[in-house]
Amino acid sequence: MNVLVVNCGSSSLKFQLINSDTEEVAAKGLCERIGIDGRLVYQPTGGEKEVTEAPMPTHTEAIQMVLDALVNEKTGVLKSLDEVEAIGHRVLHGGSKITESRVINDEVIEVIDECCDLGPLHNPANLMGIRACMKLMPGKPNVAVFDTAFHQTMPPKAYRYAIPTKFYKDYAVRKYGFHGTSHSFVSKETIKYLGLDADNSKVIIAHLGNGASISAVQNGKCVDTSMGLTPLEGLIMGTRSGDLDPAVLEFVCKKEGFDVKEMLRILNKESGVYALSDNLSSDFRDLEEAMDNGNEAAGLAIDAFSYRVAKYIGSYVAAMNGVDAITFTGGIGENAGLVRKKVLEYLGYLGIKMDEAQNSKRGENFILSTADSKVKVAVIPTNEELAICRETVELVTK
Ligand code: AMP
Repeated sequence: MNVLVVNCGSSSLKFQLINSDTEEVAAKGLCERIGIDGRLVYQPTGGEKEVTEAPMPTHTEAIQMVLDALVNEKTGVLKSLDEVEAIGHRVLHGGSKITESRVINDEVIEVIDECCDLGPLHNPANLMGIRACMKLMPGKPNVAVFDTAFHQTMPPKAYRYAIPTKFYKDYAVRKYGFHGTSHSFVSKETIKYLGLDADNSKVIIAHLGNGASISAVQNGKCVDTSMGLTPLEGLIMGTRSGDLDPAVLEFVCKKEGFDVKEMLRILNKESGVYALSDNLSSDFRDLEEAMDNGNEAAGLAIDAFSYRVAKYIGSYVAAMNGVDAITFTGGIGENAGLVRKKVLEYLGYLGIKMDEAQNSKRGENFILSTADSKVKVAVIPTNEELAICRETVELVTK
């Protein structure tokens, strides 16, 4: 089955056309600057990358350009759009009502709409992408795969904040968690790859990318995760602060004359390892290079990041009263051997031993722990598009 996987941002749209039988990508690309001017980058597998500048006032014109590219006589990969059998959409927020992926109908659209309050940057864009696909490919099934859904199995003791109940009851203020598609995909792959028992396993997934989060997955179900009401909570990230004393907000606002909105922008866009490295970079490749050249702030950023990851892993071992496996994924988790080594050094007390020779590997599934390590450690590349494709096929063939 050919599945078009769509991931809409406010002014962008990423897509992949995946053959679900072979799980191979036939073509992929992205539309940028939607609503500004418009630019399509399109790449058929094995072919040249093409860049087309064309007006894209809304997501509908962007999707139309993607569909035209897919059936283009010279560079297309389909004879006709009839060959697209389903569309899978990445959707950020499903609130508490959505606990799994869903075939899109009026009710699902209503929930995504209601959750715009909780995901103000992404949910409106996700809806635009859904509506555009429904308009341009009428009659085809559309599936929504939610970033929050996998975490809906968390118990109240994990997701409730210790603040007045009114805020929870009236405004749904609680921990939701994000990167759920990745945590779900990688935890399933971990269980398969390491030969664990799906119904009797304790796994911790460290999704370390520019955005970073950790989850504790017991018997295949999420029991805790580090991101919260928004993706700002938890780990130190590329430009996000992660956990901090909420009183910092008022303190700095008063000193600098900022309002809360400005402070939140700084905590999301100008903090994290970027801030700790004295605004050098949010990219670990730059930070490692600078650290090797004696830059102390870059060294501190890498140390603080790794320390926070290790602390979260420790707390999730406590949450599950044990752990069978820890898996690294995401751009940093898959590639940055230095971070993996630093994190695992903190976790020596668990009887974890790292195989140094394995740690130079990247971009593939591999086991990082030695044979006599008490806890297995793996690196498993995430693949959110494939996860969305699999969920879509499962729902439309049910
Ligand atoms: P993601 O958000 O999952 O795409 O991850 C992107 C981040 O991964 C980049 O900002 C880098 O910090 C990190 N990264 C990617 N490649 C490498 C690499 N070869 N070595 C270290 N860090 C890397």
